Amino acid sequence: MSAAPESPPRSWAEVDLAALRHNFRAARNLGHQQIMAVVKASAYGHGLEPIANTLDQEDLTFFGVANVGEARRLSEAGIQTPIYLLGGTFPAEREEVVARQWLPCLNTMEEAEHFDQLARARGSIVEAHITVDTGMGRGGFLPSDTPSALIAIRALPGLRVTGIGSHLPCADEDNAFTITQFNSFDTLIESLPEREKLTHVHLANSAGLLGYQSRTTTLARPGLMLYGVSPVTNADISLRPVMALKSRIAVIRDLPSGHGISYGRTFVTTRTTKVGTIGIGYGDGYPRVTTGQNPEIFVRGRRVPLLGRITMDQVMADLTDLPECSPGDEVELFGPNIPVEEVALRAGTIPWEIFTGITPRVERVYKG
Ligand SMILES: *Cc1c(COP(=O)(O)O)cnc(C)c1O
Repeated sequence: MSAAPESPPRSWAEVDLAALRHNFRAARNLGHQQIMAVVKASAYGHGLEPIANTLDQEDLTFFGVANVGEARRLSEAGIQTPIYLLGGTFPAEREEVVARQWLPCLNTMEEAEHFDQLARARGSIVEAHITVDTGMGRGGFLPSDTPSALIAIRALPGLRVTGIGSHLPCADEDNAFTITQFNSFDTLIESLPEREKLTHVHLANSAGLLGYQSRTTTLARPGLMLYGVSPVTNADISLRPVMALKSRIAVIRDLPSGHGISYGRTFVTTRTTKVGTIGIGYGDGYPRVTTGQNPEIFVRGRRVPLLGRITMDQVMADLTDLPECSPGDEVELFGPNIPVEEVALRAGTIPWEIFTGITPRVERVYKG
């Protein structure tokens, strides 16, 4: 008996690496700053290693990851660009950080002193950045404590402080606060002793890079915009969506008027309706809470509405106006024709969460 043929995937995410390169270069050119590419959470659901391997070939200064598990995957993939940990570490993680020469950000003196001890025990030096809490409330030294912390940390022989960073809580929501935050960050940096030894000064995420200027920063940390989505609506930049979430019509049936569709029968047909059942659901990360918010999909060149509740593995679409559809036809849930921002809005959430919510069942398919 010959080997069974492999069926085409039922739902998949097409990841366009040419679009990724385009967006990276747009970010790189925009602020004339170096770039730390933020690839946490499996590169926002796009797949850590393929995204990192692509960006590793670009004019990139750091990869930013959320935790040591992600850092380890990058190291094991043979990534050449230095790897920066965006958040604080707990004690049991730090030995590996030192041994693998990842760059930690320092949030407390306790963290700094522990890294110093571990580095000296290994006869090495840890390169690190200091984090300043200018309003995020998630980690770092308060601005008023930062000059003295910097002096104290520089006195630790096992550490070399080569940078300083802070984070923006509302660059896409509160312009006035963010302007003040940029100003006070710049003023703080300008006041630091031996400031020229801080090679890397960074504050901006995507929204910060797209909307604000700094007198002191040398590096930006974009995430979302690399994947083709601007967090601000008025950005003067052309980004290309990297991910297209796709599936296929499995079954097409004609239902009479008055027939309920999906759990709860929240939708009942009011005419004879051609209903396509599509092989994707909330088990793939398509948000169930879009139910009732008029979600649409793109099939054969046009938008059609989804009907009734999103189920775990299937959704139903109204194909009455598309008589040419047939089972196996490809549909787009979001991508070049349906912006992910639209799905996020209908789900009452943000594009970051839609991307990172696409589950492992969805095969990532790379092109470009
Ligand atoms: C996630 C993150 C970023 C990237 O944010 P985007 O809004 O996706 O550009 C930058 N800096 C830090 C500290 C982060 O945690």
